[in-house]
Amino acid sequence: MVSKTSARFFHRLSTIFQPISVVPKNAEVKKVDITSRSQRLMLERGIIRQASPGCFHLLPLGVRSLEKLTDLVDTEMRKIGGQKVVLPTLTNSKLWEVSGRLETVSSELFKVRDRHNHGYILSPTCEEAVSSLVASLAPISHKQLPLRLYQITSKFRDEIKPRFGLMRGRQFLMKDMYCFDVDLASALVSYKEICHCYDRIFEKIGINFVKVLGSSGHMGGNLSHEYHYKADVGEDKILSCPKCNYFANVEVSGEQECPKCGNTSVEISSGIEVGHTFLLGEKYTKPLNATYLSGDGKPTVLQMGSYGLGLSRILAAALEVLSSDDEIRWPPFLAPYKVIILPPKGGSKEEIHLKNSNLVQSLYARLEQVDTLKNNVIIDDRINLTIGRRFLEAKKTGYPYIIALGKKITESPSKLEVTNLQTDEQLHLEESALLDYVSPKETCAVDRLAFLRSSTPI
Ligand code: ATP
Ligand code: MG
Repeated sequence: MVSKTSARFFHRLSTIFQPISVVPKNAEVKKVDITSRSQRLMLERGIIRQASPGCFHLLPLGVRSLEKLTDLVDTEMRKIGGQKVVLPTLTNSKLWEVSGRLETVSSELFKVRDRHNHGYILSPTCEEAVSSLVASLAPISHKQLPLRLYQITSKFRDEIKPRFGLMRGRQFLMKDMYCFDVDLASALVSYKEICHCYDRIFEKIGINFVKVLGSSGHMGGNLSHEYHYKADVGEDKILSCPKCNYFANVEVSGEQECPKCGNTSVEISSGIEVGHTFLLGEKYTKPLNATYLSGDGKPTVLQMGSYGLGLSRILAAALEVLSSDDEIRWPPFLAPYKVIILPPKGGSKEEIHLKNSNLVQSLYARLEQVDTLKNNVIIDDRINLTIGRRFLEAKKTGYPYIIALGKKITESPSKLEVTNLQTDEQLHLEESALLDYVSPKETCAVDRLAFLRSSTPI
């Protein structure tokens, strides 16, 4: 079917490291440690493996998906003038002494010492590190502002209860942007621009989200918003007022009534925090001396904002929201592969019928020519298995389109069976109609109106 010589040109499932295990055999993971649907599905389908509590190996399918999310975030960050940097994983503890956070968040920090007995922490976030970078060049010119630096790196927190798989890890992937401005008014302009950028990112991911007034917590500062996916497993409680469209984390509003209009019939729901924006002002720039040279030639303290997106949490939370108990569903944008082709079982009459045709190869090549499917097609070439068995597995892994070369392949004209997991449609189509079917249409998965109704204005 897929000959050995041409095989290297195809993504083939048989070559993917995807250890499928219904009950993970990893000694570190007991059944009781599986605390969420996404965690169980990701373990079962070989997307992740647990290394130790809160630390996971990301396997090829998981990496492909996270790379797509990373690409999306990079593209949107660039649009707002974000410049990508990589700050060290080790942050000098002294910087955190200066900001005061070494004490306030001490129990969550992974602390290490070098051979000279100097203290470092494994960066849980980088406000101090980036302020010290800018301070080392201070005063910077006002012409460089606003300065928007971001990174996408692993962060480390000694969570008291690591759980829910990638949703609350001790090591996780975060996008953190730090924005420096001349004054608070400009910092607020940046704040709004970056919030709009987040709106666009979450719209593209395609899962309904809510944006709520957030608590500044240990971060400090003047203003903060959180982005949430609503889900029962979420550890935050969100208050929403249907009367005046006020949305807030209950940590901010406290009571059971709307602080804006006094309505007492507010709704409280559970949310997973997937992003957080902070307007920090001088909280870090002042103690760390991050300044710029203002028009009148005086060094002036920079105004700062900090903007986090939990990329590995977004991925897991998306699966949490979309999947059923035993089948993964990806936001199509983040699916590791968008299409899987299932050739007939070896020795079947369908396979014999196709013996001298190159249908699989040509179908693969044509699918790859569809803009959104480039590098997104895979063949399940394990033709020792029945097509039915491979179909069930494909559904469990959640490829958005499953194309089976089933019984109707022998008809004239021959038809392919396509299953669309987003709509649950199953159709028998000739190749040209199928190509049309899987080509993108102008749709936006997020209900824009629902979002506008569920977002607290800045
Ligand atoms: P939480 O309240 O859930 O502990 P946080 O408010 O402490 O999160 P931030 O400091 O705002 O988190 O970090 C920015 C983003 O990083 C969060 O919005 C979240 O998406 C992600 N994040 C934070 N902690 C974790 C974690 N332990 N595992 C995975 N992602 C995390
Ligand atoms: Mg937060």
